[in-house]
Amino acid sequence: MDSVLIDELAWTEYRRRAVDERQPVLIPLGALEQHGPHMSMNPDVVIPSAIAAAVARNVGALVAPAFAYGAKSQQKSGGGNHMCGTASLDGHTLTLALKDILKEFARHGVRRVALMNGHYENLPFVTEGTELAIQELKWGGINDFRVIIISYWDFVNQDTIQKVFPEDFTGWDVEHGGILETSLMLHLKPALVDMSLAPIQPPAKFPPYTVFPPIPEWTPESGCLSSPAAATAEKGKILFDVTVEGITGALGTEPAWQQK
Ligand SMILES: [Zn+2]
Repeated sequence: MDSVLIDELAWTEYRRRAVDERQPVLIPLGALEQHGPHMSMNPDVVIPSAIAAAVARNVGALVAPAFAYGAKSQQKSGGGNHMCGTASLDGHTLTLALKDILKEFARHGVRRVALMNGHYENLPFVTEGTELAIQELKWGGINDFRVIIISYWDFVNQDTIQKVFPEDFTGWDVEHGGILETSLMLHLKPALVDMSLAPIQPPAKFPPYTVFPPIPEWTPESGCLSSPAAATAEKGKILFDVTVEGITGALGTEPAWQQK
């Protein structure tokens, strides 16, 4: 039983590592969301799960089962929740589900959790669920529970952006189904990508406001917010390595995260 995946361990082995050895727990947070005609609907789960497993092996941590459903896709960052295939939770459902799971790990004795987010729209609800869990744990007398919230793309540095987007970087907001996620999927799960179906299109342009219900015509027909045509597995490996290295470094050095 040398897996880092909690659900592959017997409870006694989990207890040995999580409680006796005080290993932190990493929780990938994803979504079921369309990512264009060329790719499966699970990159927001696959990518942070793979990063979490690699980081866990580097730092001696465990990885919990991923949240496979996420907060509602928004038109200007994920194409929108009107798209077929995308299936989302209400924000407060995600908030409360995450709060429950954080408190469960705390009940076992875990005191360090890193949330590995792969779906932009999760962030406000994940933040809220974390704050509520910490508050309730304090009421229960647990004062030493710490959470780090990580979105892996924040670890893609300028140097890497220049390598991966040699033309022009259009910004993370229109990267949905674009070069970043497609390259990472080509590296991690090439069988789930068909580049012959990759749409060629200009980056989506939106006004500086949002309309509800969404106006479907605002979203490019493909569901991608920029073209993934320049994605490659090599770029995916560069992106994967730099994020794993960055997150490993952050967890290894952040003073608030270290356990005495
Ligand atoms: Zn995505």
